[in-house]
Amino acid sequence: MDIADLHIHTTASDGLLTPTEVVEWAIIKKVRAIGITDHDNVNGINEAICASLHLNIEIVPGIELNSQYLDEEIHILGYFIDYKSKKLEEKLGFIRDSRYSRMIKIISKLNLMGIKIDFENLKINSNSTSIGRPHIARVLVEKGYASNMKAAFDKYLGRNRPAYVERYRLSVGEGIELIESIGGVPVIAHPGLIAKKKYIDEILDLGIKGIEVYHTKHDANITSELLKTAKEKKLLITGGSDCHGMFVNKEPILGNVFVDYSLVQQIKKASKTI
Ligand code: AMP
Ligand code: ZN
Ligand code: FE
Ligand code: FE
Repeated sequence: MDIADLHIHTTASDGLLTPTEVVEWAIIKKVRAIGITDHDNVNGINEAICASLHLNIEIVPGIELNSQYLDEEIHILGYFIDYKSKKLEEKLGFIRDSRYSRMIKIISKLNLMGIKIDFENLKINSNSTSIGRPHIARVLVEKGYASNMKAAFDKYLGRNRPAYVERYRLSVGEGIELIESIGGVPVIAHPGLIAKKKYIDEILDLGIKGIEVYHTKHDANITSELLKTAKEKKLLITGGSDCHGMFVNKEPILGNVFVDYSLVQQIKKASKTI
């Protein structure tokens, strides 16, 4: 069976593997197609496509928009988008600028608390449009201010914690519209992680075309529920590892969660870019 992992992050956002390394691992793990879905960012796609040339692997150009629905952060995946679109570039530029200024505010809050970190410590890719709290959390762990990423959020960076700063987000409706307007297929990401379950149905009615049924953090129950919903509502089914490059048993989780390659062809058919 040919498999596809449609949810992967690279160093263009908060992943630890470069797009080239992602392609290399996908080949090792025998994945036929991979979705490059960086947060609010498409800068990894070109490199992944270049690395894939002459190899038996297909790159699905994608994005994961960290958007807002009422009081929850909701992630919307977009597949087969026109990732070179000017309109997308403008929107992402705006998001990048607002993320930069927010990072500076978070760092000053931490500095006021006696925590000595600065922007240079963050090791961020200069063209990243999705620098965020995970970058700071990693430095807090490295410098011993927190024992792990979760602790860094619980102690400092989470909502209502002392170094929290709100940031600009697209609304879910704007995110779906943006993906549609650049020819892509909007999919609701990891609905199993949405705290208010009633939001799922509401969001599905906003123009969503697919559900991420399979995901590293979905258990068997939520997976079968989502599968049922996707079938009832005649929505596309997607899935992926949401690999950020962490290693388990010397291998990244890339390819550990997947869908059949035929689903990629269905998603492609629903897009307007191919
Ligand atoms: P930002 O986009 O800068 O607001 O950061 C959001 C990202 O932080 C999410 O996509 C998660 O990857 C990460 N994150 C949020 N809360 C936690 C947490 N409690 N533990 C670990 N990572 C978290
Ligand atoms: Zn991420
Ligand atoms: Fe996500
Ligand atoms: Fe993700």
